[in-house]
Amino acid sequence: PELINQIAAGEVIERPSSVVKELVENSLDAGASRIEVDIEAGGARLIRVRDDGGGIAPDELPLAVASHATSKIGSFDDLEHVASMGFRGEALASVSSVARFALTSRQRDAEAAFRIEVDGGKLQAARPAQHPPGTSVEVRDLFYNVPARKKFMRAERTEFAHIDDLLKSLALARGSVEFRLSHNGKPVRIWKAARDAQAQLQRVAEVLGEDFPAQSLRVDHAAAGMRLSGWVGLPTASRSQADQQYFYVNGRLVRDRVVAHAVRQAYADVLFHGRHPVFALYLELDPAGVDVNVHPAKHEVRFREQRLVHDFLFRTLHEALAQTRA
Ligand code: ADP
Ligand code: MG
Repeated sequence: PELINQIAAGEVIERPSSVVKELVENSLDAGASRIEVDIEAGGARLIRVRDDGGGIAPDELPLAVASHATSKIGSFDDLEHVASMGFRGEALASVSSVARFALTSRQRDAEAAFRIEVDGGKLQAARPAQHPPGTSVEVRDLFYNVPARKKFMRAERTEFAHIDDLLKSLALARGSVEFRLSHNGKPVRIWKAARDAQAQLQRVAEVLGEDFPAQSLRVDHAAAGMRLSGWVGLPTASRSQADQQYFYVNGRLVRDRVVAHAVRQAYADVLFHGRHPVFALYLELDPAGVDVNVHPAKHEVRFREQRLVHDFLFRTLHEALAQTRA
């Protein structure tokens, strides 16, 4: 099974940021309101994610790192209705097969925490540990036993930049969760939770930093069973910021041609120029109307009703942007 896990790991775990993604998504699934990510040496030496979520029962710790054992998909129907972000049930199994791994957790009302360690795929018995309510996952020496993978890791700075970008995209998706990121012991990001629209805008501005546009517009419109909310920037003539476009479908970051086309058309129609603006937009729709299972690690979706989604996005943005010219 270790080899199988390692092969699976190759699918999901490409680099340190892939590990961070899986761990932070688990923390979000666990209802965390605060997530701390500590990185050393770009993630090659240490990736640690701590949360204050619901925790894991001691007898379930070994299951959490067992392949497929925890998959939430029980039937074809479930596949159709995967609304939750974690659904493959093998991220921890994969990660723990390619690193020195420890999982420490305490359930909200439990008196004690427990810790398990996996080293080279070998699971040690759970033992009591010190930990506040919530969960910590430690991943040390990533790919130490998969030299072919290790070779592909880039410079510390590059790998950390990937982690920073990834955390950005997750922090934009979950404005109500506090995120902290440190590198080699130094705090790099502290993004506090935002409770209302005003605070959310401030949070988006903070996360995007200097990339946040000087002029932005709030969007919030619902129709035909869909809701689009968020902020769009008014494009500046001088800068193209295609890499600062964040579009979420039911909380999941997506790069999609239908979406891109609708947005581009709306801007071009109202503002007559094609610079790529900054935006953070959130589309919510019935999970049955969208297939997110195209590829777990890529940001692809397939809408059941592409035309409907396209027109809804185009009209909503068109209307919002048109106000700026009135
Ligand atoms: P999946 O998230 O697809 O179920 P994972 O391998 O990522 O699979 O995680 C396995 C299981 O371990 C999860 O289903 C969850 O029950 C538990 N788990 C993992 N991380 C956490 C966490 N931070 N807090 C609570 N439970 C967790
Ligand atoms: Mg998961």
